[in-house]
Amino acid sequence: MLKLNQVSKSFVTKQGEISILENVNLHIGAGEKVAIVGPSGSGKSTLLSLIGLLDTPTSGEIVITGESLANLSEAEQAGFRNEKIGFIFQSFELISPFTVTENVMAPLDIAGEKVNQESITNLLDDIGLNNRKEAMPRTLSGGEKQRVAIARALVKKPAIILADEPTGSLDRSTGEKVLTMLLEAVSDSHTTLIIITHDESIAKRMDRVFEIRDKGVYERN
Ligand code: ADP
Ligand code: MG
Repeated sequence: MLKLNQVSKSFVTKQGEISILENVNLHIGAGEKVAIVGPSGSGKSTLLSLIGLLDTPTSGEIVITGESLANLSEAEQAGFRNEKIGFIFQSFELISPFTVTENVMAPLDIAGEKVNQESITNLLDDIGLNNRKEAMPRTLSGGEKQRVAIARALVKKPAIILADEPTGSLDRSTGEKVLTMLLEAVSDSHTTLIIITHDESIAKRMDRVFEIRDKGVYERN
């Protein structure tokens, strides 16, 4: 479902070229739940950006659902990203002038797809937001905001959800509840989940754990 073959990433800065990831090989199956751990600055967000087509590798190949991303034009990459990938960020990234329902529907609107109100209602029910449908983001708690972001990530039934420290700005008990909802949602829909975390209790709840160190990605046994 997701393959990285000899993927390297470096950035050109004023100080010269800095290499962040070198010859990374990764193979993740459909429906697997995977944690990526590693120290701050080790390249976790960079790796997620490459997988999510927000950035391109310096060398190597990324294949998602059989499609080699390097062969796609920029427009095709944007289309692929909208269709196949859901993103969840630590800082929620909700659209503040939009209601909860409008935030969840936004990916469908962007893709010009017809909105099935019943499926939106079901999604909000599943994630425990049925009484906040018309609420504005600023009136929500952190846990509620992240549940909106989860519903929004799921609405187009992506093949993969990429989550960068999704519970990083929540207190522990709220974070655990939100994570449980996310895990149930991806299990029900057989969606692959890749979650960045530095929280061992989160990593333990995943099927597999990968560590980034010395510019490489290694599976933990
Ligand atoms: P992590 O998410 O593991 O904390 P990041 O992937 O955000 O780490 O960053 C890894 C390293 O790459 C850091 O040293 C960061 O400063 C550097 N970096 C990330 N993005 C860029 C960029 N666009 N240009 C230059 N350096 C970058
Ligand atoms: Mg990061």
